[in-house]
Amino acid sequence: WKNAPPNLSLLIQFGRSHGDRAFIVHEGERISYDATVRAVAHLATRMREMGVGKGDRVALTMRNLPEWPVIFFATVALGAIAVPLNAWWTGGELEYGMRDSGARMLFVDAERHARLAQCYDALPDLERVFVARARIPLEGKAGAIEDLIGTPDSWASLPDIPFPQTDIHPDDDATIFYTSGTTGAPKGALGTHRNFVTNIMSSGYAAARMLLRRGEPIPDPVPKTMLTVIPLFHVTACSATMMGAIAAGNTLVFMRKWDPVAAMEIIARERVAVTGGVPTIAWQLLEHPDRANYDLSSLEMIAYGGAPSAPELVKRIYQEFGALPSNGWGMTETTATVTMNGGEDYLNRPTSCGTPVATADLKIMDVDGVFEMPVGEVGELWARGPMVVKGYWNKPEATAATFIDGWVRTGDLARVDDEGFCYIVDRAKDIVIRGGENIYSSEVEDVLYAHPAVTDCALIGVPHRTLGEEPVAVVHLSPGTEATEGELQTWVRERLANFKVPVAIRFVEETLPRNANGKILKKDLKEMFADRAAA
Ligand code: ATP
Ligand code: MG
Repeated sequence: WKNAPPNLSLLIQFGRSHGDRAFIVHEGERISYDATVRAVAHLATRMREMGVGKGDRVALTMRNLPEWPVIFFATVALGAIAVPLNAWWTGGELEYGMRDSGARMLFVDAERHARLAQCYDALPDLERVFVARARIPLEGKAGAIEDLIGTPDSWASLPDIPFPQTDIHPDDDATIFYTSGTTGAPKGALGTHRNFVTNIMSSGYAAARMLLRRGEPIPDPVPKTMLTVIPLFHVTACSATMMGAIAAGNTLVFMRKWDPVAAMEIIARERVAVTGGVPTIAWQLLEHPDRANYDLSSLEMIAYGGAPSAPELVKRIYQEFGALPSNGWGMTETTATVTMNGGEDYLNRPTSCGTPVATADLKIMDVDGVFEMPVGEVGELWARGPMVVKGYWNKPEATAATFIDGWVRTGDLARVDDEGFCYIVDRAKDIVIRGGENIYSSEVEDVLYAHPAVTDCALIGVPHRTLGEEPVAVVHLSPGTEATEGELQTWVRERLANFKVPVAIRFVEETLPRNANGKILKKDLKEMFADRAAA
């Protein structure tokens, strides 16, 4: 790991150096680094015996279980391509992922097995399926993971065997992660070993740096306990969180299902230092009425990204948890984090997603991608660096349109100020154009979030005959608070130009619909509210 060209097989083998320290805590199970590495070596050996080799696709879909990292690393240690499929997907969507990737082996938990089993025989490339914690008889292509490597509580007693010999180049393919499907059908992003290794190095460095005051030296990483709530099939959890953990010796606590009370119990019991994932998680902890009953004093940092966040959140995390907030921007196509904001910088610039990590470049282009915009002006964000993936799996046209001369066109609208701080203002697809005037949804959402009663909101464009579109805000109020449509419109009018004031406010009882990665599904909201728009 120290002297060889980096790859993910060396990363997991480096995990041996953390010995008996817990890598994963999951309900009653505590699995050490040593036990994990033993299980990876055994699973890789068994997979090699079954013929898995370089470039083969191996799919996995399960909730965050200790088996997940073992399967992932066994696959990439063979030079095969890991294909983590979204565990929230329906049977049909999972089948799409299986067909699109052409996986020859699949690892599932019992729930995903139930969703997919009827199509195993129809998938021509699929040879074997292994089920975790099945507790039902398995037949046909399906067998139990336990029969290959035993149950997690027995991994520590597996003999310590070497990893199968494999020649892996840093630029070999390692993963296909699917995009969240927020704006269209999910696309498989083809990532290399180098993409991940540079991502964990550069985001680890950026995270260490932002916790310091200016001029202090960067300390060696201190192992921390992290409550990992976001799913591992999302590149941020897999790369920045899980792989970053191995580099630093962190302990990851997995939850069966996100639940703020269970999370607070775990934070108090395990003395969790870092949590987060997506902004909603931080909100739900902050706003929980029973928060005072739990000792959350171990929290040092609440880190999130992946979706726009309210500037209000930044101050409140700092003041009410005494923890540092941090925000990262990235996309599946960039193997997680490209920009990061945290600590003092973030408190001073709460609407910015920060500056690029040391290995990344950003530029802001006009929407046609022809010329660079002047500093400070909004345009499409392009990103470049060793974390940008090669392209999309099986989608040459989308690849050609998105990956240009080493840059990825992000589809996000942003500006970068003269200090290099980046501000995401909207997705190009979500911008509301009202009679030729651009309304960036984050600007209006940030103003709404600053209203004390608003905890969740989204600005959407609804069709208008002559203006093209009009802005409508969908709002969820904190329990026990009140605000009327007129009051919120006045609140916005006092702070922003008139044309940005939503023509209607739609109140919803629940928090807004989000996908597995915490992103508000604006396309669903647009469908729900299109015909109920105010005239
Ligand atoms: P699809 O590409 O399939 O429509 P998606 O873009 O949501 O889905 P991801 O790759 O998971 O899939 O998400 C990347 C996007 O998430 C970015 O392009 C950006 O719009 C949004 N995003 C990520 N981080 C942030 C952040 N810190 N602030 C605001 N938006 C963010
Ligand atoms: Mg996208």
